[in-house]
Amino acid sequence: MDMKKIGVIGAGTMGNGIAHLFSQHEYEVVLVDIDENFLQRGMKTIEKNMGRELKKERITQEQLDAALQRIKPVTDMAELKECFLVIEAATEQKELKLNLFKQMDEITEPDALLATNTSSISITEIAAVTSRPAQVIGMHFMNPVPMMKLVEVIRGLETSDAVNDQIHELSSAVGKVPVEANDYPGFVANRILLPMINEAVYAVMEGVATADAVDQVMKLGMGHPMGPLALADLIGLDVCLAIMEVLHDGLGDSKYRPCPLLRKMVAAGRLGRKSGEGFFSYN
Ligand code: NAD
Repeated sequence: MDMKKIGVIGAGTMGNGIAHLFSQHEYEVVLVDIDENFLQRGMKTIEKNMGRELKKERITQEQLDAALQRIKPVTDMAELKECFLVIEAATEQKELKLNLFKQMDEITEPDALLATNTSSISITEIAAVTSRPAQVIGMHFMNPVPMMKLVEVIRGLETSDAVNDQIHELSSAVGKVPVEANDYPGFVANRILLPMINEAVYAVMEGVATADAVDQVMKLGMGHPMGPLALADLIGLDVCLAIMEVLHDGLGDSKYRPCPLLRKMVAAGRLGRKSGEGFFSYN
């Protein structure tokens, strides 16, 4: 096992951010995705984002080149064998993640740690498909990963104290602030953020105020850097709806029912920034 080598599964928004972060802290990163095209896109994003840091003189060209060199994009999960830690940041689908964890469990050394960046799937349930539930933990990074300070560290029911401590130390070592949470639907970040967004959608649906007015109130009155509806557009309305469903199903309380307007917008394909149209227009 190589203590300077980590694996990242998924080269999308979060996975490429995690690879970016660790490569800049001298870790070798094995970046896995299912397709060469996704890997290339992920690597291009990392290069572009590091290029911004270079422009702002936060890093030098040598540091940029060295960090990129440390990332190995691959489609074969067997390359994860030597990693002391693998962080899964693949698509948010439970069956997919359970499958990936079974494979990670088979491929990596028995001592290796297995983490997931899931926003809403139970860490305990994911851990249960492996032979090492004490070494499975949630590392919930925020988007964009290189910029945002927080890592929500989520303990599954079986996660050991030693593994929890190790992940806290590692998070601090790469410049993040780890905050501990237990494994309940939505953990802390989404348990609090998403009901606020959902309530903002209700306010629009009920004609309390326009989307613009709701966001203005929260920005100017509450000091939020971004209004809840602009944030919903950034997260993706489909993702917001999926997380509300997890809260509603998992906690069984009607206060988490997704707003009908949110459902309607997702049904219409108005998903926010990624589709060009959400509560606001991006064309
Ligand atoms: P994304 O769609 O941008 O990227 C997911 C990547 O996973 C894709 O490149 C896809 O090809 C890849 N993938 C799918 N199946 C795979 C497999 N079997 N093996 C390897 N790669 C595979 O998604 P994202 O936004 O980066 O989200 C990733 C995870 O992070 C999700 O669990 C999500 O809930 C969580 N998350 C997302 C955000 C966010 O703001 N986007 C924030 C926190 C956590």
